[in-house]
Amino acid sequence: MSKREPLRVAVIGGGFCGAFFAAQLAEYSTVPLAISVIEPRARLGGGIAYSSEDPAHRINVPASRMVLFAERPEDFNAWLRRGTELDDDPEAVWQDGAVFPRRAAFGRYVAELIAIR
Ligand SMILES: Cc1cc2nc3c(=O)[nH]c(=O)nc-3n(C[C@H](O)[C@H](O)[C@H](O)COP(=O)(O)OP(=O)(O)OC[C@H]3O[C@@H](n4cnc5c(N)ncnc54)[C@H](O)[C@@H]3O)c2cc1C
Repeated sequence: MSKREPLRVAVIGGGFCGAFFAAQLAEYSTVPLAISVIEPRARLGGGIAYSSEDPAHRINVPASRMVLFAERPEDFNAWLRRGTELDDDPEAVWQDGAVFPRRAAFGRYVAELIAIR
C-alpha cells in the first residue's frame, strides 16, 4: 500500500482570519495536509488590527467578547489573567472589571494559539 501524499494548501495572508483558518484546518482535517501560510509580517495572526504596538490602540470590546472558541468563551480573558500582559497596563481594567487590553495582546494570544497547533 503506497503512503498517501498530503494535500497541499496555500493560505494567502496570515493575518487574523488566514492564520486562524490554517490552524483550524490543521486541527480538524480528516486527511493529511501540508499547509503553507504566505504572510509578509513577522508574526502570524496579528494582521492590520492586532500587529499594532502603539499602546494606545486597544480592542474595542471587552476581552470576554473576543471569542474564538464557542465552547470556551472566556479563553482570551483567562489567557490575559494568567499571563503578564496586564502587569504594566493597569488602564486595561475598567471600573466594572471588564478588560480592554492593547490590540497587540490579542495578536500575541492568536499567535500563541497557532504556534501550538
Ligand atoms: C484597525 C482595526 C482595529 C480593529 N479592532 C477590532 C477590535 O478591537 N475588536 C474586534 O472584534 N474587531 C476589530 N477589528 C476587526 C477585525 O479584527 C478585523 O476585521 C480582522 O482582524 C480582519 O482579519 P483579516 O484576516 O481579514 O485581515 P488581517 O488580519 O489584516 O489579515 C490580512 C493579512 O494579509 C496580509 N497580506 C496583505 N497583502 C498580502 C499579499 N499580497 N500576500 C500575502 N499576504 C498579504 C497582511 O499582511 C495581513 O497580515 C479591527 C479592525 C481594524 C482594521
